[in-house]
Amino acid sequence: MNDSAPIKTAPAKPESALKKQHLIDPEICIRCYTCESMCTPGAISHDDLNVVVDFAKCNYCMDCISPCPTGSIDVWRIVDAPYSLAEQLTWTEVPAQVDFGEAASAITESLDADVGALLEKAHSGTGGKPIAPASASKPSVNLFSRAKPAIATVQGNFRITAASAENDVRHIVLSFGDTVFPVLEGQSIGIIAPGTRSDGRPHDLRLYSIASARDGEKRNANNVSLTIKRVDGGVASNYMCDLKVGDKVHVTGPFGATFLMPNDAAANVIMICTGTGSAPFRAFTERRRRAMQNAPGKLVMFFGARAPEELPYFGPLQKVPESLLKTHFAFSRIPNQPKEYVQDRMRKVASSIAPMLLSSSTHIFICGLKGMEAGVDEALADMCRANSLDWTKLKPDMRSQGRYHVETY
Ligand SMILES: Cc1cc2nc3c(=O)[nH]c(=O)nc-3n(C[C@H](O)[C@H](O)[C@H](O)COP(=O)(O)OP(=O)(O)OC[C@H]3O[C@@H](n4cnc5c(N)ncnc54)[C@H](O)[C@@H]3O)c2cc1C
Repeated sequence: MNDSAPIKTAPAKPESALKKQHLIDPEICIRCYTCESMCTPGAISHDDLNVVVDFAKCNYCMDCISPCPTGSIDVWRIVDAPYSLAEQLTWTEVPAQVDFGEAASAITESLDADVGALLEKAHSGTGGKPIAPASASKPSVNLFSRAKPAIATVQGNFRITAASAENDVRHIVLSFGDTVFPVLEGQSIGIIAPGTRSDGRPHDLRLYSIASARDGEKRNANNVSLTIKRVDGGVASNYMCDLKVGDKVHVTGPFGATFLMPNDAAANVIMICTGTGSAPFRAFTERRRRAMQNAPGKLVMFFGARAPEELPYFGPLQKVPESLLKTHFAFSRIPNQPKEYVQDRMRKVASSIAPMLLSSSTHIFICGLKGMEAGVDEALADMCRANSLDWTKLKPDMRSQGRYHVETY
């Protein structure tokens, strides 16, 4: 969704009064009319000036999105009264998004209300409206829905925790074949497990973070990787962890417009995670390695697990050069050693992290289990106190500047 335009404020409206309207950006559109030819419900038309979308006819099938050569088709506004065709035909630019407050946020993120709610919950630890890094690329979202999923093929599925570990965490590679499925580091995809719930309704959609860089798990191979932990009795995680090479999977998304990798090579990125929360950070690191080899910005990762054998990607992570990524592991269940959690590790190296917090180029990303938020927050507050900084002021400043990001589940 194009959410880069400025926002005007309007009186709060109930969510039910608001709608998501599909529009086309006349400034970028090259008038090739490919979208019009793809539009089965006949919602897209044009005159000599503009290409426009009829709100009454658009069924959000998304068939027009990926063939568009410019991205001008991927524009959305939350509206109380949809823009008419006559209005759109006069535009030289798309009007700014009106701010309808909290009620609009679920619709803004997603066409599938359940995805909006999941993301809102996952980002609630941000402590306010999450904002994307200023330098992040514009993400595509909602290209594939539950009604019209992308069909991916499993290319690989292997365990990345030791055989002796209690947790079965898997690295799963999905190929999209000829289907265009553009992603950015930090985004998630939706998985719909086959079958039905006990009440006969289809299973709820589950979100999984993308663990590969935007150009694929294998460069330019149109595939993505995921890091999935098998949850006892869990529907989707067991379905995914049991997949065999060649199996077909229904995928929705991509989702997420704020928890995104900054493109700025000078950005310092502090990544704090437990378990599968490492997935987006694998993507961030790979992006830096591939696209910004000599980036002046630092990548620092705090990664907590019970023991090395429980830590996803422990072996590969140790081979990543420190010049690319500085890793700090924290283990809480090593026999005869005191328990150490990520927040303890952060406190121990506070003197190297605190100076980074002073820089306006520094971003903090927290991802993993919901339970980690409070401890990490306290550690950051302690770190600031010891270095003449006030976390109660710094945190909201970083958030409003798109530099503080939380995704926990
Ligand atoms: C933004 C986001 C990103 C995420 N990224 C990842 C990721 O990268 N990797 C990852 O592994 N996970 C990720 N998750 C979590 C993931 O979406 C799932 O929540 C997780 O895999 C569990 O789903 P499941 O279907 O296996 O379990 P569920 O079927 O939802 O079950 C969860 C637990 O509830 C229990 N349960 C289910 N139904 C009942 C019932 N009726 N009564 C009692 N108990 C019940 C189950 O036994 C199980 O223990 C992410 C979540 C979000 C929101």
